[in-house]
Amino acid sequence: MTQRGAVLLGNWVACDAYAENRPVRVVTHAHADHTGGLRWSLRECQKVLMTEATRDLIEVLQGPLARLNDIETLEYDRSMQFDGERLTLFKAEHILGAAQVLVESEMGERVAWTGDFRLDGTSPLVDCDTLVVESTYGSPSCRRSFDVDVRKLLVRMVEERLKGGAVYVFGYHGKLQEVMQILYENDVSVPFVMPEKVYEVSKVCERHGMRLGCLTLSSQKEGKMLLDENLPCVAFYHMNSRGNVGLNSERICVSGWEFHKPCRRIGEKEHIIALSDHSDFDGLIEYVRQAKPKRVITENHGGGHGETLAKEINRRLGIPALAMPCKKYQATLS
Ligand SMILES: [Zn+2]
Repeated sequence: MTQRGAVLLGNWVACDAYAENRPVRVVTHAHADHTGGLRWSLRECQKVLMTEATRDLIEVLQGPLARLNDIETLEYDRSMQFDGERLTLFKAEHILGAAQVLVESEMGERVAWTGDFRLDGTSPLVDCDTLVVESTYGSPSCRRSFDVDVRKLLVRMVEERLKGGAVYVFGYHGKLQEVMQILYENDVSVPFVMPEKVYEVSKVCERHGMRLGCLTLSSQKEGKMLLDENLPCVAFYHMNSRGNVGLNSERICVSGWEFHKPCRRIGEKEHIIALSDHSDFDGLIEYVRQAKPKRVITENHGGGHGETLAKEINRRLGIPALAMPCKKYQATLS
């Protein structure tokens, strides 16, 4: 793994950031911390690969990319060959389009990168010699072992609050659409109101098979009226808008950084619900335990717990594990 956060697999592939001398770039999903240097990759690489859904989401989130047509899409469980290596994408449960990546050499050596994932729904757990695993919640302090169904709790909270009018939900792209889907599947049938970017992301999700309910733009007449008159509807906004909209309404934030309770009150009319699109510590350990790789690299680039996770994998499972890039090395460089 490079200092910029590129996960290098085999001889040719760099995932989730631009890396020099790597002719194949893979984007595992559309979150901004995985699309670093994409324009460079489009200029420099021979192949830029991702799922079709990820390409569509990036186009909405970042605007049209130059040479967007040069992005090659690869569906789950399909492979492509590049100079003696075989690359396959597998489903990761995280946001729409998210993928795990496996690279196999001519000699049969298998190296895989999980990308961001939540264990529940991620399939298959990739059988490989070397596994690079994400480590966002890689510390034993990051466990969400609640004895309640967080989705049902979310539905109940929204339903109760709708009696008083509009309910605002704040979260990140992808997660907001997951909440819409949960509410829709549980028969919450009020209009869902949202600003343009959230609407466009939602429309991509619908095009790729998610069912989200009745979507209305907050800038259009009906959406504006629903919010202005505090009528029963659910308003979906990006977490960054939390300080600007729905200040006097009932508010629910969805976040993975909650470990003690499934729901916590943070203001007079505001709660946080522990809904995560990443595995908690137990989920990360369980992936490695089931996949049984010969060695593990824990991703140590973002704000996660790479070094702790490497130690815990070693201690609990007896599998050699190393955090990369090494933070001490980074410190001497800076
Ligand atoms: Zn992500």
